[in-house]
Amino acid sequence: MDFVLPPELQELADDAAAVAAEWSATTPFPEDSWIVGHDEKLATVLAARGWIGMTWPTEYGGGGRSPLERFVVVEQLIAGGAPIAATWFADRQMGPSLLQFGTEEQRKQWLPGILDGTSMWCIGMSEPDNGSDVAGLRTRAVPAEDGSGDWIVNGQKVWTSGAAVADWIYLIARTDPDAKPHAGLSEFVVDMRTPGIEVRRIVDMTGNDHFCEVHLHDVRVPGANLVGELNGSFRQVMRQMEHERGGIDRLVSNRLLFDDLRRSGWIDSSDPLIRQEMAAIETAYRIGRLLVLRETLGQAPKQFSAATKTFCTEFEQRLAGFAARVAGPYATLLDPSGDLGSRIARATCYAPAYTIMGGTAEILRNILGERVLGLPR
Ligand SMILES: Cc1cc2nc3c(=O)[nH]c(=O)nc-3n(C[C@H](O)[C@H](O)[C@H](O)COP(=O)(O)OP(=O)(O)OC[C@H]3O[C@@H](n4cnc5c(N)ncnc54)[C@H](O)[C@@H]3O)c2cc1C
Repeated sequence: MDFVLPPELQELADDAAAVAAEWSATTPFPEDSWIVGHDEKLATVLAARGWIGMTWPTEYGGGGRSPLERFVVVEQLIAGGAPIAATWFADRQMGPSLLQFGTEEQRKQWLPGILDGTSMWCIGMSEPDNGSDVAGLRTRAVPAEDGSGDWIVNGQKVWTSGAAVADWIYLIARTDPDAKPHAGLSEFVVDMRTPGIEVRRIVDMTGNDHFCEVHLHDVRVPGANLVGELNGSFRQVMRQMEHERGGIDRLVSNRLLFDDLRRSGWIDSSDPLIRQEMAAIETAYRIGRLLVLRETLGQAPKQFSAATKTFCTEFEQRLAGFAARVAGPYATLLDPSGDLGSRIARATCYAPAYTIMGGTAEILRNILGERVLGLPR
């Protein structure tokens, strides 16, 4: 097996790397740019290049390109620190979900805005007390009493990334309280400007406020915005999580930090412990990349993205920990300068999030044990 990219893919990768270099320079903190780097100008640039919905069918305005082409583009954009958060969730998750479960009208209504980089989306899944346990969600959607076919939604979401800047929330709500917990959930696309929605930003340890609380009070949602099967969300969510978990965003979020650290002169490469750890990090990175490639090519076992995400995000944490140990006291001051010490301090504060968001490492190990390896519960 020759892992070298063919010339046309290498050209595409180089092109994406150049775009990343240009746009990462606009932010002092290029790490985790797919989730915290919101830049609407870049969104339209990506759209103009055809780098949103690259693999979606051309009949819906997608690029009709191969998963590998998309892989090389997003790998370079994210590893290079391009602030792509404005389009990332919809590109990674919402678009594919609408293509798989949405009606023809829903695809025509929502895909064009995603593809041209003008509509921003957020994921309304987690709730206070119900993050890992999706089946326990309590936000309720009940049919409107006026017989319009609309739904009235009440409840609260939390940790909703990008909610304060989103146009749409892809919301999961309980539609049948009498069914078994996992059997009574449905999915809705909700306009964030609907009366009754209040968004409160949460400031995290790094000082960033990308994730939010979303409060829903008597929010009226058109019946036509129900996506997929009524009470059939659980199966759909599991499919959606496959899009969320197996991707390159889980491996390269802080790759630039490692590269910049190596170039910085801060590393004493005569120290055997440092040399060993650098070799281990580079080896883990290459293994993680192969795991992601296998997911990308559809060659991973079903549900294996749980293992891929766990391996890759634990790698990202290891990298942040290594950087902090090397930088020592220089990595203790998180100021806005964006110098290397400050970037490492930010990365250290952010690193715990890797193994929480998108499913915690503990939950994913359960999935691996029970559903992939078939171990007893
Ligand atoms: C940066 C960031 C961005 C996020 N963005 C979004 C977003 O956009 N939209 C969204 O909906 N959510 C988002 N989340 C929320 C994320 O999905 C949840 O935090 C995650 O699913 C964990 O849920 P929880 O926080 O309620 O923790 P809990 O589920 O309460 O878990 C607490 C601890 O208990 C452990 N645990 C729980 N159940 C079990 C079990 N059965 N076996 C073993 N251990 C268990 C967990 O592993 C964890 O260590 C984001 C989170 C972060 C950190």
